[in-house]
This record gives sequence, C-alpha cells and structure tokens, in this order.
Amino acid sequence: MIPENHPRYQSLMLRNKMAEGVMQGIVHPTGLIAHGRGEAFDYLLGERTQSFADDAARAAAAYLKIAKKPVISVNGNVAVLVADEIVKLAEETGMKIEVNLFHRTEERVEKIISILEKHGGRDILGMEGDAKIPGLAHNRAICSHEGIYAGDVILVPLEDGDRCEALKRMGKKVLTIDLNPMSRTARNANVTVVDNVIRAIPNIREHYGDVKKPEEIIAKWNNRKHLQMAMDFICERLRTYYR
Ligand code: ATP
Ligand code: MG
Repeated sequence: MIPENHPRYQSLMLRNKMAEGVMQGIVHPTGLIAHGRGEAFDYLLGERTQSFADDAARAAAAYLKIAKKPVISVNGNVAVLVADEIVKLAEETGMKIEVNLFHRTEERVEKIISILEKHGGRDILGMEGDAKIPGLAHNRAICSHEGIYAGDVILVPLEDGDRCEALKRMGKKVLTIDLNPMSRTARNANVTVVDNVIRAIPNIREHYGDVKKPEEIIAKWNNRKHLQMAMDFICERLRTYYR
C-alpha cells in the first residue's frame, strides 16, 4: 500500500498499474522500460502540461476535426493508463479504436480489447489483422483494414519511430503523444504532444469541443519549432533549477 500523502503517490500508483499489467499479460515486459523512459522525461518537464503541450493538443484536436476516418492505435501501456479516456475521446470524435501491438499476440490483443470494452468501448478493431502496413517486417506490419489501413488521421500514443515513419509514407497524418521530444516518433509525426498520455488524452478531448477553425490551426502548425520549444523548456529548467 502506498500512502496517499507520499510525494510521488501518483507516479508510484502508475508504476503499480503497469506492473500489474505485465502480470496480467496486458503489458509487454519491454513496456515497463518504455514507461521508465517516459517517467524520466516527465520529471524533466515538471510533470505538468506545459503551454507547448497544450498548443499541440489543440493542433491534434484540429486534425481530428477535419479527419474523415480518424483512428486511435492502442497498445498495452496506453490501455492500462487511460482506457476510460480513450473510450470518451473516441465517442466524442467518432474515432475508431484499434488495438495494435508492437509485440503482437492474439491473446494480448483480446485482453486489451476486453479492457476497453469494460470501459464502454464498442466495435474495437485489432483481432482481424487483415491488412499490412507496407515497408515493415513481420508482425509489426499487421493492422486492421477498416482501421489504421483505411484511416486518414491516426493518433498513435507511444508509437515506435519506425512504424510512425511507415504510416507517414502511406500518406497518413500522424498525431502522437510522446514525452521524449527527441524520439524518431516525435520528429516524424505531424503533431507531437510532448506530455504524459494520462494528461494529453483528456486535454485533446477538451480542445476538440472548443476548436473553431481547424484549417487555420493546422496551416499555422510547425511541429519542428514546437519540439524545439519543448527542448528549450527542459534546458531552461535545468539551467535555473537550483538558483
Ligand atoms: P523512437 O526513436 O523509436 O521513437 P522512443 O524513444 O520513442 O524511440 P520507444 O521504444 O518508442 O522509444 O519508447 C516509447 C516512448 O514513449 C518513449 O519515448 C517514452 O518517452 C514515451 N512514453 C512512455 N510512457 C509515456 C507516457 N505515459 N506518456 C507519454 N509518453 C510516454
Ligand atoms: Mg517512439
């Protein structure tokens, strides 16, 4: 039991959830390492949604507004951390939910689908695996024809850089949530929300409700500049931390 007044209560609770996720076969063991890398960056970012992340969440919402076939790709980490918020975002935006795993097994896909269903998710894709993302080897290429394959705007939180690139080559608009502003995923996406998924998903939903002129927001969006702002923020924080 972690006492609620522990200064790192929330972070420790999330670690527990991730560890349970591994024991239940929902999270792949390497998912814990990805989570740890995320935690390190979250620490540097002050564990809050900074203004550049809020702007990116608005830009992501703008892309979802103009999308004809938006899809969110869900893996084990994301399901354990924010299944409820994913279902809400999908309901509000009309986005399809697809379970798509880097280390794909049908058993894990099934387990993640059932978590999302427990939170009210419907018609969740992922089991059929009836299409392939071109240019990727093995199981990592498998996706749903009706979902990621046919989608035009794909929200891929915590995606592998290689797959992000492959989706871009297919002509899709890729939105990602990644705490590491230097990752290949962060650099390749059309919009990178440098924030924790637990904050970013509900924030994108809030912006979706408010966005008025999505085309204008998209036209003005410069993801590289935005990633540099995230890096500048970290640098400034390090430079002045003990002053
Ligand atoms: P690549 O250059 O291939 O994109 P990467 O640094 O993104 O490499 P991955 O194996 O894709 O490495 O790791 C997952 C990424 O997800 C990490 O960059 C990590 O910062 C990020 N991450 C982990 N947990 C979270 C979280 N809760 N919210 C947002 N991002 C997270
Ligand atoms: Mg990545």
